[in-house]
Amino acid sequence: MSKPKIVVLGAGYAGMMTTKRLMQKLGPDEAEIVLVNKHNYHYQTTWLHEVAAGTRNQNQARMMISDVINPNRVSLIYDEVTEVKKEENRVVLKNSEVSYDYLVISLGFETNTFGIKGMEKNAFSITDIESSRMIREHIEYQFAKYSTSVKKNENDLTILVGGGGFTGIEFVGELAEQVPKLCKKYDIDRSKARIINVEAAPRILPGFNDDLVAYAKKSLEDRGVEIREGAKISECKKNSFVIGDDGEEIKAGTIVWTGGVTGNSILGKSGFEITKGKVTVESDLRAPGEENIFIIGDCAWVMNKEEGRPFPPTAQAAMQHADTCSTNLKGLIRNEQLESFTFDDKGTVASLGKSDAMGTVFSERLLYGTPATAMKKVIDNRYLFLLGGPKLILKKGKLRML
Ligand code: FAD
Ligand code: NAD
Repeated sequence: MSKPKIVVLGAGYAGMMTTKRLMQKLGPDEAEIVLVNKHNYHYQTTWLHEVAAGTRNQNQARMMISDVINPNRVSLIYDEVTEVKKEENRVVLKNSEVSYDYLVISLGFETNTFGIKGMEKNAFSITDIESSRMIREHIEYQFAKYSTSVKKNENDLTILVGGGGFTGIEFVGELAEQVPKLCKKYDIDRSKARIINVEAAPRILPGFNDDLVAYAKKSLEDRGVEIREGAKISECKKNSFVIGDDGEEIKAGTIVWTGGVTGNSILGKSGFEITKGKVTVESDLRAPGEENIFIIGDCAWVMNKEEGRPFPPTAQAAMQHADTCSTNLKGLIRNEQLESFTFDDKGTVASLGKSDAMGTVFSERLLYGTPATAMKKVIDNRYLFLLGGPKLILKKGKLRML
C-alpha cells in the first residue's frame, strides 16, 4: 500500500516547524512529506524590520531550506501556489501541480491597506525579504541623492511610517539607530532627517500595557522619532500621507505602510469561507468541513474561547499551531484521537532598536531596557535552536546578547 502524502504549503514559521515536527513524529515509512515554498530559502519574518531599516543584512535573516530540512526525507518544491482545488485533493502551482492526501496551508500574511486611497501604489510594505530590501535601498538612495543634489529637498530625508502597531514601532526603533549612521555616511546634519510614525488610535501599540507603551514612546522620542497619535491616514499620495479630519499633509521621501495584515489571498481564491481575510478553523486546526486540510499560522483565525475573539497572528502562535497540527496529522494517520489547540502565552517582547526593548514575559512580568533586549534575543535564538539546533544558532543567531 502506498504511503499517505502530506503536503505543506509555505515555509514560514508555521510550515517549517510543522515539517520539522512531522519528521520527528512520523517514521519514514508512515508518510511521504512534501514542502512547497515560493523560494528555496526560509526567512525569519520577525526580523524583516531590521532588514528594511538596514540594521541587518538580508542574508542574516534567511537560510536555505535544504540546510535545515533533510531533502532525502522531505520532497522540496520551490514554486508558487496559485490555487488549492480542495474537491480534487490537488494544489495548482505556477509551474506544475501536486496532489495530496493531507494538506497544511501555512502561506502566511499579506499587507492589508484597508482600501486607503493610493496606499497600495505609493507606499512600501514590510512583507518579505525582497520588499524589505527595497525599503533599505530606497532610504539609502534618498540620502545619497540629497547629499549630491545642488537643489536640496529636505523632504527626501523624511521617513514616514503608517501604523504604530508592533511592526511600525519596531521598525522606527531600528531607523532611530540607522538614520544617524546614514547622516554620517553622507555628511548630512542629523537634525535634517526625520522619522515619523503615524497611528490612528489615541496611542501607539493599542491594547498593550500602558507603562510599556509610555516607556517605548519615551525611548523612541529621546532618539528623535516623532510620534503622531490619534492621526488617521486617509490617503497616501506619491510623496505624502493625508491625515486627520483637517486633511493635513505630511511629505516624505520614503513612505512605509505597517498598518495591518491579512491572510494569504490564495484562501479566498480556493473557495474557503473567509472572515476578514482568514479562515476560522476548528479547535483541531482543520478548516471547517474539511477532514484532511489544516490551516495554520497567519492564514488562520484560532478562537480564544475565553475572550470570544481570535488570538493575534504571531510567530509564537504559528509555532504552537505547528505542534498541534503535526500531532493531529500523526493522529489521522495512526487512527488516534485528535487534540484541541491551546495557546500557551509566553508574553510579548518588542525591540526598540538594537539597544532597547520592552515587553511582558509569562503574561504578567514587565521587562524594560537591557533585560528586555536580552530576552528578545533569547526568543529569536530559541526559534533557531528548535529549527536547526546549536549549529544554526552559531551560523545565524544573535550572538551579541547586548
Ligand atoms: P510567514 O512566516 O509569513 O511564512 C509564509 C511563507 O509562505 C513564506 O515563506 C512565504 O514565502 C510563503 N508563501 C507565501 N505565499 C506563497 C505562495 N503563493 N506560494 C508559495 N509560498 C508562498 N510575531 C511574534 O510572535 N514575535 C515577533 O517578534 C514578531 N515580529 C514581527 C516583525 C515583523 C516585521 C513582522 C512583519 C511580523 C512579526 N511577527 C512577530 C508576526 C509573525 O512574523 C507572523 O505571525 C508569522 O511570520 C506567521 O507565520 P506564518 O508561517 O503563518 O507565515
Ligand atoms: P497591527 O494590526 O497589529 O497594527 C497596525 C496598526 O496600524 C494599528 O495600531 C492600527 O491602529 C494602525 N492603523 C490602521 N489603520 C490606520 C490608519 N488609517 N492610519 C493610521 N494608523 C492606522 O499590525 P502589525 O503591527 O503589522 O502586527 C501584525 C501582527 O504581528 C500582530 O499580531 C502583532 O502582534 C505581530 N507582531 C508582533 C511583534 C512582537 O511580538 N514583537 C512584532 C511585530 C508584529
